[in-house]
Amino acid sequence: MSEVTSVALRSLMARVPSVERMIASAGFEPLVAEYGRTQTLAALRSTLDDWRREAQAGRACLDALEESRLAQSVGALLRERARGSVRTVFNLTGTVLHTNLGRALLPDAAVQAVVDVLTRPANLEFDLATGRRGDRDDLIDDLICELTGAEAATVVNNNAAAVLLTLSALASKKEVIVSRGELVEIGGAFRIPDIMSRAGAKLREVGTTNRTHLKDYDEAIGDRTALLMKVHCSNYAISGFTKEVALHELASLGKARRVPVAVDLGSGTLVDLTQWGLPRETTVRETVEGGADLVTFSGDKLLGGPQAGLIVGRADLIGKIKKHPLKRALRVGKLTLAALEPVLRLYRAPEFLRDRLTTLRLLTRPADDMRNAAERIAPALLRAIGDEFSIAIEPMFSQIGSGALPVDVLPSYGVAVRLASGKRPGRQLAKVEKVLRELPRPVIGRIADDALRLDLRCLEAADEAAFIAQLEAYSAPQPKGAGA
Ligand SMILES: *Cc1c(COP(=O)(O)O)cnc(C)c1O
Repeated sequence: MSEVTSVALRSLMARVPSVERMIASAGFEPLVAEYGRTQTLAALRSTLDDWRREAQAGRACLDALEESRLAQSVGALLRERARGSVRTVFNLTGTVLHTNLGRALLPDAAVQAVVDVLTRPANLEFDLATGRRGDRDDLIDDLICELTGAEAATVVNNNAAAVLLTLSALASKKEVIVSRGELVEIGGAFRIPDIMSRAGAKLREVGTTNRTHLKDYDEAIGDRTALLMKVHCSNYAISGFTKEVALHELASLGKARRVPVAVDLGSGTLVDLTQWGLPRETTVRETVEGGADLVTFSGDKLLGGPQAGLIVGRADLIGKIKKHPLKRALRVGKLTLAALEPVLRLYRAPEFLRDRLTTLRLLTRPADDMRNAAERIAPALLRAIGDEFSIAIEPMFSQIGSGALPVDVLPSYGVAVRLASGKRPGRQLAKVEKVLRELPRPVIGRIADDALRLDLRCLEAADEAAFIAQLEAYSAPQPKGAGA
């Protein structure tokens, strides 16, 4: 790289046009009309600053300063800045409830309800029957109770908040007894022991990692015991020589010793999933009927709704929880309530649930559907990534995700991209993965066993055309030495 002399550099810098002249030029007119003068000017200044830096480094390109070229660069910068940071992607990871990709996708009924409350005033805290102030929980707690068999319910920001609030309201400065086999870390910063100390409660661990007996709980109960707690082992399974105390046993102990039992159910499904051939998960209703005094669960996992944390159970305990100051801090907004209600209402018609609840539809999608989709998209994909690679349509295994049933897998279909030469792919495959991830609507797959795997379970028919069109608009960079 040649250093530029100061005289030469000064004369180069003199070629940079005046921003005032440039912004008033015909080439910039459409940009000013679309983005406004302020933004366009800022983008122009930033583009020219970049050019100056390049010039200083000896990489000046005078053509780039022409009006039309500048307008092009500034336009590209403005478009990039205008693109939102929260972007939709194609989730081809095979994990249906993918926490990093936004978990449950909501059905149309929920989308419409959100649009309505976004654009119109609503009775969020206004009692239409009396004309007085209302409570936002009242809007949907009856529905939640109807679906779970619980006496009372409340909703907060997410399940982590539900657990934190429950412990803060009922166990602050007291002890909570939990089995050593259930001291879960959910990912991110959600660890039962940490939440416990945040809530000011003292964790009293009982039993061992693999075996906990009823007498372990019994012996640990004392004056300071506020709760017996069970936590769903959402993202791991302990197998072999194990013993877990069943909820009904713990509930009888709790009743006899007058200590409430709280269950953090995690995913919290409202229906028996085995009717659709899915693995068994204890439902919220079964947990309530099994004797839990409180149950906490997420809105955006198996339930299939928006991010939320639901707390259901005994009316006196829910009452205490609702009065705690943290409830105000952790409460949900109108968008959440608007989205949650129609999703919950779908459960009143279980016959249609598989079709109408997006999460359930994806989880139960027939393998043939995915195989046919794979056959339709494979040619476009191959054209896009180039003949350096081969594509195979293969059976795969999807996951439910989000801590539901960590060890179960759902038979699926997808495409696997490998190096055509059959060599170990190394960097080339990572490059394809990156190219797909950088498309206008990023495609997120998964590299495993020398192949890039795109599981098609979550590419529904309505999105397939957009997926193919995007690939067709993209032309693969030719591998080196492949000619013109
Ligand atoms: C997922 C999960 C949580 C956290 O729920 P969020 O809705 O993500 O806050 C807490 N406990 C268990 C057992 C979980 O599976």
